[in-house]
Amino acid sequence: MIEIDGVTKIFGTGSTAFRALDEVSVTIRENEFFTLLGPSGCGKTTLLRLIAGFEYPTEGRITLDGGDLLDNPPHRRPVNTVFQSYALFPHMTVAENIGFGLEMLGKPRQEVRRTVDEMLELVRMTEMAGRRTSQISGGQQQRVALARALAPRPKVLLLDEPLSALDFKLRKDMQLELKRLQSETGITFVFVTHDQAEALTMSDRIAVMNEGSIRQIGGPRDIYDHPAERFVADFIGDTNFLEAELLDVSDGRARIRLPSGTETEARTAEGGAASGHVTLAVRPEHAQLSPPDEALLPGRLAEVVYFGTDTHFHVDLDAGGRFVVRQQNQPDAAQPRQAGDPVGITFAAGVGQVLRD
Ligand code: ATP
Repeated sequence: MIEIDGVTKIFGTGSTAFRALDEVSVTIRENEFFTLLGPSGCGKTTLLRLIAGFEYPTEGRITLDGGDLLDNPPHRRPVNTVFQSYALFPHMTVAENIGFGLEMLGKPRQEVRRTVDEMLELVRMTEMAGRRTSQISGGQQQRVALARALAPRPKVLLLDEPLSALDFKLRKDMQLELKRLQSETGITFVFVTHDQAEALTMSDRIAVMNEGSIRQIGGPRDIYDHPAERFVADFIGDTNFLEAELLDVSDGRARIRLPSGTETEARTAEGGAASGHVTLAVRPEHAQLSPPDEALLPGRLAEVVYFGTDTHFHVDLDAGGRFVVRQQNQPDAAQPRQAGDPVGITFAAGVGQVLRD
């Protein structure tokens, strides 16, 4: 639906020129919840502002349903934005805020009223319609901002860290709420966040960005279970990195030799090496502790850290380096291991991921 093709954005000129986006290409599909995820300064907001029309690319094209988007000024694009600061009118009621944009578009009064009622119901604010927005909570203001942005029925809703001003509990509730709004309205959402948990919870697909480029695009499970490179593996969740020897690859399956000398199977990222020295990523919860003589990696327990829901076992490997195993806690389970115990680490064939350099 939205085709971003070879988009580069350079701010400033000469010695102060800064390349905020570097040849970014991505297709965002109709009806999807698409998230741009990355650390501060990686270019997420810049990409969103280019789609909205608040910035113009230095190079590249952006089309929507095949038509060139860049020819149109922001107000002519079938796109609306929800900002981090809700930017509501404090002297107007909730209903007036939601209807304001529609009135500006010259919609007939009856249609405005009907749409406002629908939107109030959609964001569950019908009872608050007559309140001024200065008299409602932050979470309620966020709902009004969403309703106002959805009211003109844009094809695409752009959301720039819209939940970051909310406290933890409200944020969790609003994540589910946003997902519901997206699937009920069928509008394409492009959501910007630096919060990996938020991205994994809500998105159909995620583009992980770093330093002005997209490093990997995929569903939450793809990105989490099969990170293609070290930056993605490190930015999303916790990961163990092992230096290993890649022996051969067939059908995306790699045969590798671990630092302990043991051989096992792993997955490889597209475009990765076919042999030689590689880095293997293994998630802490995908590995288990085992007796040292049955293990892929023998070692000695260095630390046991209890987290309530799970326990982290830090193991110093005999071959060097540290590996963390995360185990879910069961009620009343005995804690069988202590720091200093010899232990081993195992993981199933195929759960490790060979990273691209
Ligand atoms: P954050 O999560 O902190 O908002 P971001 O990933 O959204 O970060 P952008 O706002 O897209 O990052 O900024 C990308 C880079 O471009 C940053 O280094 C920023 O300083 C720079 N930048 C953004 N806008 C301008 C501008 N108008 N002039 C110069 N540099 C800019």
